[in-house]
Amino acid sequence: MPTSRKPAPADTAVAAAPRPDLLDRLAVQTAIRNGAQLLRRLRTIEHADGPWLEIGGRRLLSFCSNDYLGLAQHPQLVAALKRVADGEGVGSTSAHLICGHRAAHAALEEALAAWTGRERALLFSTGYMANLGVLQALLARGDVCVQDKLNHACLLDGAQLAGAALKRYPHADVAAAARQLAGSGEAGALLATDGVFSMDGDSAPLRELAALCAHQGATFMVDDAHGLGVLGERGAGSVNAAGLTQHEVPVLMATLGKALGCAGAFVAGPAALIDGLIQFARPYVYTTAMPPALAAAALAAVQLAQAEDWRRDRLSVLISRFRSGAAQLGLPLLPSTSAIQPLLIGAADAALRIAHALEQRGFLVSAIRPPTVPQGQARLRITLSASHREDQLDQLLEALGAAVAQ
Ligand SMILES: *Cc1c(COP(=O)(O)O)cnc(C)c1O
Repeated sequence: MPTSRKPAPADTAVAAAPRPDLLDRLAVQTAIRNGAQLLRRLRTIEHADGPWLEIGGRRLLSFCSNDYLGLAQHPQLVAALKRVADGEGVGSTSAHLICGHRAAHAALEEALAAWTGRERALLFSTGYMANLGVLQALLARGDVCVQDKLNHACLLDGAQLAGAALKRYPHADVAAAARQLAGSGEAGALLATDGVFSMDGDSAPLRELAALCAHQGATFMVDDAHGLGVLGERGAGSVNAAGLTQHEVPVLMATLGKALGCAGAFVAGPAALIDGLIQFARPYVYTTAMPPALAAAALAAVQLAQAEDWRRDRLSVLISRFRSGAAQLGLPLLPSTSAIQPLLIGAADAALRIAHALEQRGFLVSAIRPPTVPQGQARLRITLSASHREDQLDQLLEALGAAVAQ
């Protein structure tokens, strides 16, 4: 039987309204960014061997990874990953709530909760998703989310996605945060801050912010992506270092991809928070669980990070050595005592030029430019790791002295 064709809808005959071509528009935006010398470039690392990276057939000493404790290539992490991959394969095969939640995930969550002194912990596939998930689960339209201006992009995105009113206070300005909270009437309020700021390396005034939240009845959230493993007793992080309890900081988020040398993230806090996230955090519910072998590797990393204080000791020796060496050379240090030691350059093209000069001398250092940092505040983001040697640091300082002076 011939199928009867539906008549074409009437409006296909009418000329469509002119629209922008979306791919063309994107190409124009990319060209504008290129013209402003702000194009981001993707580079392929051919091989990684501790802090040594091979790019374009050249070996460069990297000072830009977030592998602060030097765990990313540790044999115990690799062995744990292989053991679980040998036993269970690679993929978790589904979301946590279907059949993706394995023993390796559960063991890691328990270890993270114990380490950070929280009742429970919940794994997310990335830190970006963890922050989107927490903010979207906690905040509703009409609520206010108060944040430090220099918070990581995903905290800012999370508040916007949740439909809350986002208020950003000047960096570390507790009085300004207090005014924003006081001005928000009876709205539900969350104050979120990075523990250690990713592009500046300084620490948030956590104790003052916690007191403010207690006074204002606001919920306090700390993103400790750069503090966990590095600060606090046995590396328990910024919140531990500040002596704050779960009651004072009920929402603690941190990642597994920085000092722990793996990938993924978690949120830790009271059972009621975790139970609610399992129900309502869409980036938790609707995504594939991280590979169980990766969870096993992260558990090995947590154990090493807790046990091996010498990694933090080494890092602090390197940090002091870098700061005193850079100060002697008159380099533009920022007030950071963490593994993130940026040098503030100012103009984006100057930062790029210095990064190129360093690369000529065998060092990989990233030039961070707007919009990642504010206009006029381009910088070299130098990161130190327990895997660096002191003589390597001295060589970097010598190269920096030459490159910045040029
Ligand atoms: C890296 C980072 C994130 C994102 O974590 P990923 O696991 O890399 O997605 C979130 N917050 C801060 C402060 C970070 O530095």
